[in-house]
Parts: sequence; C-alpha cells; structure tokens
Amino acid sequence: MATRVSPLLIRSVDVLDVREGGIARRQDLLLEDGLIRRIATGGGLEPMGIDVIDGTGLLAMPGLIDCHAHVHGTFVMGAGGFSDMGWIFQQVARNLRNHLLGGVTTVRDMGGPIHMLRWWGRRIASGSVPGPRLYCAGPILSVPGGYPTFTRKLPRLVGALIGQVKEEVPDALSAYKMVDTLVKKGVDLIKVAYSSRDYDADLSPLPVWPQKTLHSLIDVAHRRQRKVAVHVAWLKDLVEIMSMGIDSIEHVVRDGVMDEYVLDALAESGSVVVPTISILMNFFHLDRLGGFLQGAGGHACLEDIPRLHLLRLAERRRCGQDPPQLGDLKFADAESYARQNLQALIDNEIPLALGTDAGAFYSFFGDIASELRWLVEHGMTPLQAIQCGTLYAAELLDLEGMAGVIEESAWADLILVNGDPREDIGVMRSPKWVVAAGRPHKVHGTYHGAGGIHFADWN
Ligand SMILES: [Zn+2]
Repeated sequence: MATRVSPLLIRSVDVLDVREGGIARRQDLLLEDGLIRRIATGGGLEPMGIDVIDGTGLLAMPGLIDCHAHVHGTFVMGAGGFSDMGWIFQQVARNLRNHLLGGVTTVRDMGGPIHMLRWWGRRIASGSVPGPRLYCAGPILSVPGGYPTFTRKLPRLVGALIGQVKEEVPDALSAYKMVDTLVKKGVDLIKVAYSSRDYDADLSPLPVWPQKTLHSLIDVAHRRQRKVAVHVAWLKDLVEIMSMGIDSIEHVVRDGVMDEYVLDALAESGSVVVPTISILMNFFHLDRLGGFLQGAGGHACLEDIPRLHLLRLAERRRCGQDPPQLGDLKFADAESYARQNLQALIDNEIPLALGTDAGAFYSFFGDIASELRWLVEHGMTPLQAIQCGTLYAAELLDLEGMAGVIEESAWADLILVNGDPREDIGVMRSPKWVVAAGRPHKVHGTYHGAGGIHFADWN
C-alpha cells in the first residue's frame, strides 16, 4: 500500500552547497510530494499546519549516493545460501535500513537478484519500508568459470522467481542477447566482472573474456542507454580494458602501482573510478574488526550466522592462526599498492565516485562514513569527498539536478548533521535526521537506534 508523503518544513537550517562549498545560513526548506519545493531565507515560510523539523544548529546536505553495494548481502552465498529465503529477506530489510540511517538515500546495487531488488525498490518508493532508492545492475556478467567464483547459478525456479546473481556469457552473440534480456527485466546498468585471478589463497588464474566479447557487450549496452561498470582488481586486467569506453571502473588495483602511462590512459578514457577502499581496508585489517563484530554495530548489521563466521575469522587472524594468503603477493604489499593507487587517482584528479561494496564480505551497511574518511586520509578535502558521494555520484547515475544537491525541484533526499563536515568529515558518522523522498527518519543514539553503525576509530 502506498503511503502519501506529508509535506514537511525544515526550519532555520544551514544548507551546504556541495557545488561551491558555501553554506547558506538559516534557510527554510519546504518538502512536498518527495521534492524540495521551495528554499527560502529563515522565517520566510509559514508552516500552516504541516510537520516541522527545527533545523536550528544543524546543517542540511544532500543524502549520499553509494555507487557500489550488494543489498542482498552479507554472506548470502556463503552462509546457508539462498535455501533460507526468510533469512535473506530479513537481512535485506536490515541492510536497507542501516544504510539509510547512515546517510545513504540512493544505492547503486552492483550485482543482485533483479526481481527481488525491484520488488524492494517498489516497497521503498511506496513508503512501506524504510530504505534508499535503488538503482540495480541485476546479475554480474562473467565468462563461464570466471569471477566471482563464490557465486553459483541459482536453481532454475529460484532464479526465475528472484533473478540470478551471476550470469555466464560465453561469447559476443550471447552478450547481445543477455543485455537485451536484462534491459527488459528493468536493470539500470550492466555490471561486468573482469578478473584474471581469483581471491583464493593461491590467486588462481581465472578465464576472462576475449576483448571482442567485452567490446560487443559495452557497445550493445550503450545502444540500450545503459552504462557499463566493470569490476577490476589487478593491474594487468586494468591495462587490458581501460581504454574500451567503460563508464565506471570498480575498486582499486592491489597488485602493483599504476604508473604514469596507466594514469594518463585512465584520465583519457573518461571512466569514473569507484574505489571502494573501505572493503579493502577491512579485509587487510580483519583482526581489528573483533570489537565491532561483538558490539552493537555488528549486531545491528549482521545476522548471527555471518557475524559469528566473521568473528571467528577475525579472532583467528588476531591470533596469527590464519595468516592471510594472496599467492605470492604479500598482504602488506597489497595494502600499500591499494593505498598508493588511491592516492595517485586523487592526485591526478581522476573522477571518483563514492562506493562501499557493502554487502560483500568485509564491508557493512551503515558505514559509508568510513569510505569518506579514507578518501580524505588519502588527500581529498572533505568537500571533495562529499562531492564524490553527491554531485559526481549523481552524474554517474544520470541523476544530475535530481539527486546529490539541495535545490528547488530536486528530490527531497537530504541529511541533517551536527557540525561542519567541511572541517571534520567525522561529522558524517552520525547524521541526526535522514530524509528520503520527503520522508523524515530520526536517527537515535550512537548506533543509530540499532540502525547505522558507529565504528571505533581504528586505522
Ligand atoms: Zn561489489
């Protein structure tokens, strides 16, 4: 059942202009029908019987856009799998709510069952459940036997019902057909995995598409007005595909340093990079996640099965029982490469968009603030980091003017924070209010009322 959105007045709030970085003091924002209807200087708008939030002392900024998440995670494939649908539905609801209360009002889902995701998207849009807007890639496309190897094809009936998480595409002709089928099913973009090595202990070699197949896929997707996002983790893979007209490159390379040639080619390609550095940092420092997993954050975010599984891993890692293996690549080197590459992307002003990879193994819904913090730590100003999650993310999703800004006629997707995020990006860790499609959600307590997650400041 669709619930109507009541008009809402946010009174006397400071408003951050994410384009220029200025703050307009004591503004009134009138939200109506899910849109920002009017913006007037303090006291300019009369409430006339509608709901009011007193914004005195708070700062309004656009809701964040997470350009890389997997709403149906965490650990769906590894812990009990799709045999337990009830569990998955609970986890999805929890993920959506956590992310919303962490300040995310739009999610670009980068691989998940499309029918199920669209069903959730409709429920969110109608106001039946709290959550961000969903933009969905549907299944991850890969060569037969290719990455991701931990995701298997669902049984036919389940796949037909909720949608597949991965589809194997053997050649150019099937790529054409697959893109067409997915567009008919309502995907908003196409997600591709291109990985010549696995994440197992040996970094085992994996097959990838011949260039011709990937070319065809990008070509047909663009002709169907769908952008193409490609998962790339290894330097050799990046070099192979970076000039193919890909719209976004997901993740940062972690097995070598991008040299000038690579950076120049990347800059020229026009691709946006979504670094998802927080999942890598969590992966490299799993041993430090014990406190989070045992505390309110872990309980808010994860069902007991994946939580205890992760906790066991973290504990083993801490005791040195289970030293991480990445083939001949040293763990410390992988972290160093990832950090150097992020730094180089920022220094070379390659366009970046904010993404967490929440729902994948080591990244958690509600914690987009960590991704912002890592960007700042590697050389961005707080405003630039915020722009990655607002202006530039909106551009990547073709939502310029609708999302990522506080302007008249834009969507009423915004967050109210206490403090100036331009001075201290840590302010983003605990929004006080999140307004999504004009619907206000008050965020309570340190752990966002068992919603969002407040991580201890570990480095
Ligand atoms: Zn991902």
